[in-house]
Amino acid sequence: MFDKAEIEIPCPKCRHKTSKTIAWIKAHSDFVCAGCGVTIALEKKKLLAGLNEVDKSLAKFRKTLSGLGKRR
Ligand SMILES: [Zn+2]
Repeated sequence: MFDKAEIEIPCPKCRHKTSKTIAWIKAHSDFVCAGCGVTIALEKKKLLAGLNEVDKSLAKFRKTLSGLGKRR
């Protein structure tokens, strides 16, 4: 459902933020920072826990959107 959503992953070394889609994160376990070249292990549990928060705000956002849609 959120496969196309992007998450910004900050590099612990140089703070460079890398945007990856959920689908990409699911398919990979680490990535190389474009800022400093360090290999960053994807903390999937952490990232997916954060998704629950995204889920909540998306549900809110959808409600707002559908509310706007009804006005048209
Ligand atoms: Zn970096």
